[in-house]
Amino acid sequence: SKKKVLVSACLLGEKCRFDGCSCTNDDLINDLDPVELIPVCPEEMGGLSTPRPRARVVGDRDDADGHAVIKGEAKVLTHEGNDVTHEYLKGGERTLNVAESSGAGLAILKSNSPSCGCGKIFTHDFESLKLGDGTTTAILKKAGIKVVDESEYRDALNEYRK
Ligand code: SF4
Repeated sequence: SKKKVLVSACLLGEKCRFDGCSCTNDDLINDLDPVELIPVCPEEMGGLSTPRPRARVVGDRDDADGHAVIKGEAKVLTHEGNDVTHEYLKGGERTLNVAESSGAGLAILKSNSPSCGCGKIFTHDFESLKLGDGTTTAILKKAGIKVVDESEYRDALNEYRK
């Protein structure tokens, strides 16, 4: 049977982004033909509605990211300042449950998102990017699932398919 890969649903054309848009990645969709896709949107799975206020990771330290959120050292706040940390953590845990129950060992997730970002996420003012992972990426990585950014998936996908 085909190997299973978790993919951010917005990359597959679902309009689940905070602003009700998708971020369809056609190259990725073509390259994923040989595997079985499992679309996930951790923010919706955490109970947030679409559209929803934009959010970002905020902590005492400038480099706070999803790993700091897991440790209780940072929060996820909407641009209006509402605390959505619980929803982000819940969505990440549910995504991990999907990975574990389906046997997916690889996740290809949307760049720069406070939940799906891998390697880079938006800064607290949304003006630029900082090094770090989103909350879901941090939860998946901690559990040993390989996570890659949508722009850098090819090597990981080839390796995973072997
Ligand atoms: Fe959902 Fe992740 Fe896409 Fe945000 S980046 S809309 S959480 S799949």
